[in-house]
Amino acid sequence: MLIGIDDTDSPQGMCTTYLGAVVARRLIYEHMQVREARLVRLNPNVTYKTRGNAAVALDVAGDTDRAFEISCATVEELADFACDNTNPGVVVVEQPPDPGFYRQAVRDFCEIGDAVAILDAMGARYRGYKNRRGLIGATAAVASRLPDRTYEILVYRQPVRWGTPRNVDSASLFAAQEATFPHTWDTIDEENDVVVCVPHTPDPVLFGIRGESPSWVMVARSMVASEEPAIEQIWITNQGTDAHLLDGKIGNLKEGLSYRVHGTVASVPLTGTGGHVSFTIHDGHHDVRCMAYEPTKGFRYRVRGLVPGDVVIAVGSYKKGSINLEKMKVISLANVPATRPPLCTMCNKRMTSDGKAKGYKCKKCGARAGEPEVQEVPRVLADGWYEVPPTARRHLAKPLCRGVPDIKQGYHLAPPTSMQQ
Ligand code: ATP
Repeated sequence: MLIGIDDTDSPQGMCTTYLGAVVARRLIYEHMQVREARLVRLNPNVTYKTRGNAAVALDVAGDTDRAFEISCATVEELADFACDNTNPGVVVVEQPPDPGFYRQAVRDFCEIGDAVAILDAMGARYRGYKNRRGLIGATAAVASRLPDRTYEILVYRQPVRWGTPRNVDSASLFAAQEATFPHTWDTIDEENDVVVCVPHTPDPVLFGIRGESPSWVMVARSMVASEEPAIEQIWITNQGTDAHLLDGKIGNLKEGLSYRVHGTVASVPLTGTGGHVSFTIHDGHHDVRCMAYEPTKGFRYRVRGLVPGDVVIAVGSYKKGSINLEKMKVISLANVPATRPPLCTMCNKRMTSDGKAKGYKCKKCGARAGEPEVQEVPRVLADGWYEVPPTARRHLAKPLCRGVPDIKQGYHLAPPTSMQQ
């Protein structure tokens, strides 16, 4: 069977992954076999989300009625029902539903009624609490198929420590990433010299390490020194896979969806209040604004290197008329010609302009020339992929260390150069 759970936490506490890990242990205690623990991130633009729009699914062998009972009892015990925005959902299915529902939930918006219709048609056991919105994520989790997948070990705090400052040794996190990158990523952000994998919210997570395989995340995890944890769970995930992206066309983008969009830079990038950088791209018919917000830090320097005529693929969520960049590919760079007065062929001195459209004149010998000297300005930007730093990365965004996305030919695994990271 597959057990799906979602929407159990609030900004004040709890975490659906922790609750899922507790359910897994209670099922094992009753001699059930937990074959897989899966953590899916859904559309990052859903406004109801508490933090990262996560939902979990457990692949379990055992008694379905008992498993449903234990899952519901655990949700009733641990979910933060006091929060208006916490609307848990628990689903138990014997076969996975059509993956179309998962794909819609990760790339678009779903209705509670659509989830209920799928569950009713399958004769599934399910329980939706309060407004039942959690049934969307719970159904999506059990319907998920992960053609690309990564892993995360989540280390959870002892309940007595929840809400107190976390004690995780930063130096050990830096050492863990150094020893295991690029097989693990986003433990720390080297360029910005900050720890990324330790949350600051009052939830049960102590830290999480993301990577390519269970063994790599374990290697990194074993290097981390911290307060005594309560439990730990390795999750198989859609994090870092770009599962949220659609191929989009300028002029045809839908609010709240995430895209790869091909276009030509139409305006010089401008830095506005707060350090946010914006520019537009066009496709000959329509324009769209692209934004690199202040938290994307050094990525904005790359964006500022764009000039009109550069051809790019902009990747990110379309919100309020802008693509909020997660990464971009510079496909081709425009020539940026600069002109200056030519050298006098007689005196080897630079001529001066003789007035608008009047050509150039040598002050020394009086020689004249019609055309300026044209120089190509060297570009600071090279073609290739550029991404936001780990501090600003979305859970679903595929980091370039996992391989450079090749839009036409699928993904290949050539590592990027450090310049392009
Ligand atoms: P938690 O740890 O509790 O999962 P979270 O940040 O992941 O916290 P939720 O509290 O689960 O966010 O809130 C997200 C809500 O949005 C859930 O009720 C989920 O069912 C719902 N949801 C998720 N994806 C979609 C979608 N694509 N369309 C509509 N609703 C969605």
